[in-house]
Amino acid sequence: MDVDALVAPRVREMQSYAPIVPFDVLSKRLDMAVDRIVKLDANENPYGSSPRALEAIAQSRLMHIYPDPDQTALREAIASEVGVAMEHILCGAGADEVIDTLARSFIEPGDAILDLPPTFGMYKWEADILGARHVVVPRRPDFSVDVDAVERAVRETAASGCTPKLLFVSNPNNPDGSVTPRADLLRLLDLPLVVVVDEAYIDFSTEESLATLVRERVNLVVLRTFSKLAGMAGLRVGYGLFPTGILGHLWKVKQPYTPNVAGTVAALAALTDRRWLADVVHRMVAERARLSAALRHFDWLTPLPSHANFVLCRVGGGRRARAVKEGLERQGVLVRYFDRDGLRDCIRISIGRPEQTDALLRALQHVATASS
Ligand SMILES: *Cc1c(COP(=O)(O)O)cnc(C)c1O
Repeated sequence: MDVDALVAPRVREMQSYAPIVPFDVLSKRLDMAVDRIVKLDANENPYGSSPRALEAIAQSRLMHIYPDPDQTALREAIASEVGVAMEHILCGAGADEVIDTLARSFIEPGDAILDLPPTFGMYKWEADILGARHVVVPRRPDFSVDVDAVERAVRETAASGCTPKLLFVSNPNNPDGSVTPRADLLRLLDLPLVVVVDEAYIDFSTEESLATLVRERVNLVVLRTFSKLAGMAGLRVGYGLFPTGILGHLWKVKQPYTPNVAGTVAALAALTDRRWLADVVHRMVAERARLSAALRHFDWLTPLPSHANFVLCRVGGGRRARAVKEGLERQGVLVRYFDRDGLRDCIRISIGRPEQTDALLRALQHVATASS
Protein backbone atom coordinates (compact mmCIF):
# COMPACT_ATOMS: atom_id res chain seq x y z
CA MET A 1 0.00 0.00 0.00
CA ASP A 2 1.31 3.41 -0.93
CA VAL A 3 0.44 5.26 2.26
CA ASP A 4 2.51 8.21 1.12
CA ALA A 5 0.00 8.76 -1.71
CA LEU A 6 -2.67 9.34 0.94
CA VAL A 7 -0.77 12.24 2.50
CA ALA A 8 -2.27 15.59 1.47
CA PRO A 9 -0.36 16.68 -1.68
CA ARG A 10 0.45 20.13 -0.27
CA VAL A 11 1.99 18.46 2.78
CA ARG A 12 3.93 15.96 0.68
CA GLU A 13 5.39 18.83 -1.33
CA MET A 14 6.37 20.89 1.72
CA GLN A 15 10.04 20.99 2.62
CA SER A 16 10.77 19.86 6.15
CA TYR A 17 11.83 22.60 8.48
CA ALA A 18 15.56 23.04 9.05
CA PRO A 19 15.62 21.34 12.44
CA ILE A 20 17.06 23.24 15.38
CA VAL A 21 19.38 20.92 17.24
CA PRO A 22 17.92 20.35 20.73
CA PHE A 23 19.91 21.88 23.55
CA ASP A 24 20.74 18.61 25.32
CA VAL A 25 21.77 16.91 22.05
CA LEU A 26 24.09 19.78 21.26
CA SER A 27 25.51 19.66 24.75
CA LYS A 28 26.47 16.00 24.17
CA ARG A 29 27.87 16.72 20.72
CA LEU A 30 30.03 19.58 21.99
CA ASP A 31 30.86 17.59 25.11
CA MET A 32 29.98 20.65 27.15
CA ALA A 33 27.58 20.98 30.08
CA VAL A 34 24.31 22.74 29.24
CA ASP A 35 25.09 25.56 31.67
CA ARG A 36 28.42 26.25 29.96
CA ILE A 37 26.85 26.74 26.55
CA VAL A 38 26.19 30.36 25.67
CA LYS A 39 22.84 30.16 23.93
CA LEU A 40 22.27 33.30 21.89
CA ASP A 41 20.37 31.75 18.99
CA ALA A 42 16.66 31.92 19.82
CA ASN A 43 15.97 35.31 21.43
CA GLU A 44 15.22 33.68 24.76
CA ASN A 45 15.46 35.54 28.05
CA PRO A 46 19.00 35.08 29.42
CA TYR A 47 17.72 35.77 32.95
CA GLY A 48 15.33 32.83 32.84
CA SER A 49 11.66 33.05 33.77
CA SER A 50 10.07 35.59 36.05
CA PRO A 51 10.69 34.25 39.61
CA ARG A 52 7.05 34.78 40.49
CA ALA A 53 6.04 32.66 37.49
CA LEU A 54 8.24 29.77 38.66
CA GLU A 55 6.90 30.10 42.19
CA ALA A 56 3.31 30.04 40.91
CA ILE A 57 3.94 26.79 39.03
CA ALA A 58 5.49 25.21 42.12
CA GLN A 59 2.48 26.25 44.23
CA SER A 60 -0.26 25.23 41.78
CA ARG A 61 -2.37 22.24 42.78
CA LEU A 62 -4.56 22.36 39.67
CA MET A 63 -2.47 20.41 37.19
CA HIS A 64 -4.92 17.48 37.16
CA ILE A 65 -7.80 19.79 36.13
CA TYR A 66 -8.35 20.94 32.54
CA PRO A 67 -7.70 24.63 32.01
CA ASP A 68 -10.59 27.11 31.72
CA PRO A 69 -11.41 27.08 27.99
CA ASP A 70 -12.56 30.71 28.28
CA GLN A 71 -9.18 31.72 29.76
CA THR A 72 -11.12 34.09 31.99
CA ALA A 73 -8.51 34.95 34.62
CA LEU A 74 -5.67 35.35 32.13
CA ARG A 75 -7.72 37.43 29.71
CA GLU A 76 -8.86 39.71 32.55
CA ALA A 77 -5.29 40.20 33.69
CA ILE A 78 -4.06 40.94 30.15
CA ALA A 79 -7.00 43.30 29.61
CA SER A 80 -6.00 45.47 32.54
CA GLU A 81 -2.33 45.30 31.54
CA VAL A 82 -2.91 46.29 27.91
CA GLY A 83 -5.91 48.56 28.35
CA VAL A 84 -8.41 46.79 26.09
CA ALA A 85 -11.45 44.82 27.24
CA MET A 86 -11.13 41.04 27.55
CA GLU A 87 -13.65 40.65 24.70
CA HIS A 88 -10.75 41.58 22.39
CA ILE A 89 -8.34 38.97 23.74
CA LEU A 90 -7.56 35.36 22.88
CA CYS A 91 -4.61 33.43 24.35
CA GLY A 92 -2.86 30.42 22.90
CA ALA A 93 0.08 28.04 23.26
CA GLY A 94 2.47 30.76 22.23
CA ALA A 95 1.76 33.51 19.72
CA ASP A 96 2.47 30.74 17.21
CA GLU A 97 -0.80 29.02 18.05
CA VAL A 98 -2.67 32.31 17.79
CA ILE A 99 -1.20 32.81 14.31
CA ASP A 100 -2.27 29.30 13.39
CA THR A 101 -5.83 29.75 14.70
CA LEU A 102 -6.13 33.04 12.85
CA ALA A 103 -4.83 31.59 9.60
CA ARG A 104 -7.09 28.53 9.82
CA SER A 105 -10.06 30.81 10.48
CA PHE A 106 -9.47 32.89 7.36
CA ILE A 107 -7.69 30.87 4.72
CA GLU A 108 -9.23 28.61 2.10
CA PRO A 109 -6.79 26.93 -0.31
CA GLY A 110 -5.97 29.46 -3.03
CA ASP A 111 -6.39 32.58 -0.84
CA ALA A 112 -3.36 34.79 -0.44
CA ILE A 113 -1.17 35.50 2.59
CA LEU A 114 1.05 38.55 2.14
CA ASP A 115 4.48 38.34 3.69
CA LEU A 116 7.29 40.90 4.00
CA PRO A 117 10.56 38.95 4.11
CA PRO A 118 13.15 38.75 5.45
CA THR A 119 10.98 38.06 8.48
CA PHE A 120 9.67 35.44 10.91
CA GLY A 121 9.20 32.05 9.23
CA MET A 122 5.81 31.07 10.68
CA TYR A 123 3.86 33.25 8.25
CA LYS A 124 5.10 31.34 5.22
CA TRP A 125 4.66 28.06 7.05
CA GLU A 126 0.94 28.84 7.47
CA ALA A 127 0.64 29.60 3.77
CA ASP A 128 2.30 26.28 2.90
CA ILE A 129 0.29 24.16 5.31
CA LEU A 130 -3.06 25.72 4.36
CA GLY A 131 -2.47 25.77 0.60
CA ALA A 132 -2.53 29.55 0.44
CA ARG A 133 -0.73 31.60 -2.16
CA HIS A 134 2.35 33.10 -0.50
CA VAL A 135 2.63 36.61 -1.92
CA VAL A 136 6.01 38.10 -1.12
CA VAL A 137 6.78 41.81 -0.97
CA PRO A 138 10.48 41.95 -0.04
CA ARG A 139 11.62 44.58 2.41
CA ARG A 140 14.10 47.16 1.13
CA PRO A 141 17.83 46.54 1.74
CA ASP A 142 17.51 48.53 5.01
CA PHE A 143 14.60 46.23 5.99
CA SER A 144 11.97 48.97 5.77
CA VAL A 145 8.55 48.05 4.40
CA ASP A 146 7.79 49.25 0.87
CA VAL A 147 4.18 50.29 1.47
CA ASP A 148 3.61 51.29 -2.17
CA ALA A 149 4.73 47.84 -3.27
CA VAL A 150 2.42 46.19 -0.72
CA GLU A 151 -0.52 48.23 -2.03
CA ARG A 152 0.36 47.19 -5.57
CA ALA A 153 0.71 43.54 -4.60
CA VAL A 154 -2.72 43.54 -2.92
CA ARG A 155 -4.31 45.07 -6.05
CA GLU A 156 -2.56 42.69 -8.43
CA THR A 157 -3.33 39.63 -6.32
CA ALA A 158 -7.01 40.55 -6.22
CA ALA A 159 -7.02 41.27 -9.98
CA SER A 160 -5.63 37.78 -10.60
CA GLY A 161 -8.71 36.30 -8.96
CA CYS A 162 -7.07 35.34 -5.67
CA THR A 163 -8.31 36.91 -2.43
CA PRO A 164 -5.64 38.64 -0.32
CA LYS A 165 -6.69 37.89 3.27
CA LEU A 166 -3.85 38.27 5.73
CA LEU A 167 -0.81 40.56 5.80
CA PHE A 168 1.81 39.86 8.48
CA VAL A 169 4.07 42.65 9.77
CA SER A 170 6.57 41.75 12.48
CA ASN A 171 7.19 44.99 14.41
CA PRO A 172 9.97 45.10 15.53
CA ASN A 173 10.96 42.76 12.73
CA ASN A 174 12.65 39.45 13.39
CA PRO A 175 15.52 38.94 12.35
CA ASP A 176 16.84 42.51 11.98
CA GLY A 177 15.11 44.44 14.77
CA SER A 178 13.88 47.36 12.67
CA VAL A 179 10.53 49.02 13.30
CA THR A 180 7.88 50.17 10.85
CA PRO A 181 6.72 53.75 11.37
CA ARG A 182 3.19 54.08 12.73
CA ALA A 183 2.14 56.14 9.69
CA ASP A 184 3.09 53.22 7.42
CA LEU A 185 1.17 50.73 9.57
CA LEU A 186 -1.89 53.00 9.40
CA ARG A 187 -1.59 53.10 5.60
CA LEU A 188 -1.47 49.31 5.51
CA LEU A 189 -4.62 49.21 7.65
CA ASP A 190 -6.48 50.99 4.85
CA LEU A 191 -5.94 47.93 2.64
CA PRO A 192 -8.85 45.50 2.21
CA LEU A 193 -7.36 42.65 4.26
CA VAL A 194 -6.51 41.75 7.86
CA VAL A 195 -3.24 43.32 9.01
CA VAL A 196 -1.50 41.25 11.68
CA VAL A 197 1.05 43.32 13.59
CA ASP A 198 3.31 40.90 15.45
CA GLU A 199 4.61 42.73 18.53
CA ALA A 200 6.60 39.81 20.01
CA TYR A 201 9.50 42.21 20.70
CA ILE A 202 7.68 45.48 21.39
CA ASP A 203 8.81 45.55 25.06
CA PHE A 204 12.41 46.08 23.99
CA SER A 205 11.59 49.09 21.79
CA THR A 206 10.37 52.59 22.53
CA GLU A 207 7.73 52.34 19.78
CA GLU A 208 4.12 52.84 20.67
CA SER A 209 2.09 49.63 20.47
CA LEU A 210 -0.93 49.43 18.17
CA ALA A 211 -2.76 47.34 20.79
CA THR A 212 -5.55 49.73 21.77
CA LEU A 213 -6.35 50.43 18.10
CA VAL A 214 -8.06 47.02 17.85
CA ARG A 215 -11.07 48.74 19.47
CA GLU A 216 -11.54 50.97 16.40
CA ARG A 217 -10.04 49.16 13.44
CA VAL A 218 -12.02 46.15 12.22
CA ASN A 219 -9.07 44.63 10.34
CA LEU A 220 -6.23 44.95 12.87
CA VAL A 221 -4.78 42.07 14.88
CA VAL A 222 -1.92 42.60 17.35
CA LEU A 223 0.14 39.64 18.63
CA ARG A 224 2.08 39.43 21.89
CA THR A 225 3.94 36.70 23.73
CA PHE A 226 5.24 35.70 27.16
CA SER A 227 8.14 33.89 25.49
CA LYS A 228 10.60 36.70 25.13
CA LEU A 229 10.48 39.27 27.95
CA ALA A 230 8.77 37.09 30.57
CA GLY A 231 11.19 34.25 29.78
CA MET A 232 8.48 31.66 29.23
CA ALA A 233 9.38 30.31 25.75
CA GLY A 234 9.25 26.73 27.07
CA LEU A 235 5.83 27.25 28.68
CA ARG A 236 4.15 28.38 25.44
CA VAL A 237 1.86 31.32 26.24
CA GLY A 238 0.99 34.11 23.81
CA TYR A 239 -2.04 36.15 22.92
CA GLY A 240 -3.70 38.19 20.24
CA LEU A 241 -5.72 41.40 20.45
CA PHE A 242 -8.58 41.38 17.98
CA PRO A 243 -11.57 43.39 16.86
CA THR A 244 -14.60 41.64 18.41
CA GLY A 245 -16.03 41.01 14.94
CA ILE A 246 -13.17 38.67 14.09
CA LEU A 247 -12.67 37.05 17.47
CA GLY A 248 -15.99 35.21 17.60
CA HIS A 249 -14.88 33.09 14.67
CA LEU A 250 -11.51 32.27 16.17
CA TRP A 251 -13.09 30.84 19.32
CA LYS A 252 -14.83 28.26 17.11
CA VAL A 253 -11.56 27.21 15.50
CA LYS A 254 -9.22 27.27 18.48
CA GLN A 255 -8.17 24.15 20.40
CA PRO A 256 -10.12 24.37 23.68
CA TYR A 257 -7.46 23.76 26.33
CA THR A 258 -4.54 26.04 25.55
CA PRO A 259 -2.59 27.60 27.19
CA ASN A 260 -2.15 24.80 29.72
CA VAL A 261 -2.50 25.23 33.49
CA ALA A 262 1.22 25.67 34.15
CA GLY A 263 1.52 28.32 31.46
CA THR A 264 -1.59 30.10 32.67
CA VAL A 265 -0.60 30.38 36.34
CA ALA A 266 2.91 31.39 35.29
CA ALA A 267 1.64 34.10 32.95
CA LEU A 268 -0.72 35.46 35.61
CA ALA A 269 2.16 35.67 38.08
CA ALA A 270 4.55 37.16 35.51
CA LEU A 271 2.09 39.99 34.89
CA THR A 272 2.41 40.98 38.57
CA ASP A 273 6.22 40.80 38.47
CA ARG A 274 6.59 44.36 37.18
CA ARG A 275 9.86 45.26 38.84
CA TRP A 276 11.55 42.13 37.52
CA LEU A 277 10.24 42.70 33.98
CA ALA A 278 11.29 46.35 33.97
CA ASP A 279 14.71 45.38 35.28
CA VAL A 280 15.19 42.80 32.51
CA VAL A 281 14.22 45.34 29.83
CA HIS A 282 16.62 47.86 31.32
CA ARG A 283 19.52 45.42 31.43
CA MET A 284 18.92 44.04 27.98
CA VAL A 285 18.58 47.43 26.30
CA ALA A 286 21.86 48.48 27.93
CA GLU A 287 23.51 45.23 26.88
CA ARG A 288 22.24 45.64 23.33
CA ALA A 289 24.07 48.97 23.10
CA ARG A 290 27.25 47.52 24.59
CA LEU A 291 27.17 44.48 22.29
CA SER A 292 26.56 46.58 19.17
CA ALA A 293 29.45 48.90 20.01
CA ALA A 294 31.77 45.97 20.69
CA LEU A 295 30.80 44.22 17.44
CA ARG A 296 31.74 47.33 15.46
CA HIS A 297 35.36 46.77 16.52
CA PHE A 298 35.48 43.74 14.24
CA ASP A 299 35.99 45.29 10.82
CA TRP A 300 34.34 42.27 9.16
CA LEU A 301 31.09 42.66 11.11
CA THR A 302 28.38 45.26 10.55
CA PRO A 303 25.79 45.23 13.34
CA LEU A 304 22.44 46.76 12.35
CA PRO A 305 20.45 49.02 14.66
CA SER A 306 17.91 46.98 16.63
CA HIS A 307 14.78 47.68 18.67
CA ALA A 308 14.57 44.07 19.86
CA ASN A 309 16.48 41.60 22.05
CA PHE A 310 18.86 40.60 19.26
CA VAL A 311 21.30 42.18 16.84
CA LEU A 312 21.66 41.20 13.19
CA CYS A 313 25.17 41.48 11.76
CA ARG A 314 26.32 41.40 8.20
CA VAL A 315 29.48 39.37 7.80
CA GLY A 316 32.01 40.73 5.29
CA GLY A 317 35.74 40.99 4.78
CA GLY A 318 35.87 37.75 2.83
CA ARG A 319 34.33 35.71 5.64
CA ARG A 320 31.19 33.58 5.47
CA ALA A 321 28.43 33.75 8.07
CA ARG A 322 28.20 29.99 8.17
CA ALA A 323 31.87 29.57 8.99
CA VAL A 324 31.56 32.21 11.73
CA LYS A 325 28.54 30.45 13.20
CA GLU A 326 30.35 27.11 13.15
CA GLY A 327 33.51 28.60 14.62
CA LEU A 328 31.47 30.04 17.49
CA GLU A 329 29.57 26.80 17.97
CA ARG A 330 32.79 24.83 18.43
CA GLN A 331 33.49 27.17 21.34
CA GLY A 332 30.05 26.61 22.81
CA VAL A 333 28.54 29.90 21.64
CA LEU A 334 25.32 29.52 19.65
CA VAL A 335 24.01 32.16 17.21
CA ARG A 336 21.67 32.00 14.20
CA TYR A 337 23.07 32.38 10.75
CA PHE A 338 21.26 33.21 7.54
CA ASP A 339 22.29 33.00 3.93
CA ARG A 340 19.30 33.69 1.75
CA ASP A 341 17.80 36.53 -0.28
CA GLY A 342 17.91 39.75 1.69
CA LEU A 343 19.97 38.04 4.39
CA ARG A 344 23.18 37.10 2.61
CA ASP A 345 25.89 36.22 5.09
CA CYS A 346 24.23 37.40 8.27
CA ILE A 347 24.37 36.22 11.85
CA ARG A 348 21.77 37.08 14.46
CA ILE A 349 22.94 37.32 18.05
CA SER A 350 20.40 37.33 20.87
CA ILE A 351 21.13 39.66 23.77
CA GLY A 352 22.57 37.73 26.70
CA ARG A 353 23.86 38.53 30.17
CA PRO A 354 27.04 40.65 30.25
CA GLU A 355 29.26 37.64 30.90
CA GLN A 356 27.68 35.87 27.92
CA THR A 357 28.44 38.90 25.73
CA ASP A 358 32.03 38.72 26.98
CA ALA A 359 32.22 35.02 26.09
CA LEU A 360 30.82 35.75 22.63
CA LEU A 361 33.36 38.53 22.04
CA ARG A 362 36.24 36.27 23.12
CA ALA A 363 34.97 33.54 20.80
CA LEU A 364 34.66 36.02 17.91
CA GLN A 365 38.21 37.17 18.54
CA HIS A 366 39.30 33.56 18.39
CA VAL A 367 37.43 33.04 15.10
CA ALA A 368 39.11 36.18 13.74
CA THR A 369 42.66 35.11 14.60
CA ALA A 370 42.16 31.42 13.77
CA SER A 371 41.22 32.12 10.15
CA SER A 372 43.35 35.12 9.25
C1 LIG B 1 9.26 34.40 18.95
C2 LIG B 1 8.29 35.02 18.01
C3 LIG B 1 6.90 34.78 18.09
C4 LIG B 1 6.19 33.84 18.94
O1 LIG B 1 6.58 33.16 19.82
P1 LIG B 1 5.76 32.17 20.74
O2 LIG B 1 6.85 31.54 21.51
O3 LIG B 1 5.01 31.24 19.86
O4 LIG B 1 4.85 33.02 21.57
C5 LIG B 1 6.06 35.44 17.24
N1 LIG B 1 6.52 36.29 16.34
C6 LIG B 1 7.82 36.56 16.22
C7 LIG B 1 8.25 37.55 15.22
C8 LIG B 1 8.75 35.92 17.03
O5 LIG B 1 10.05 36.14 16.85
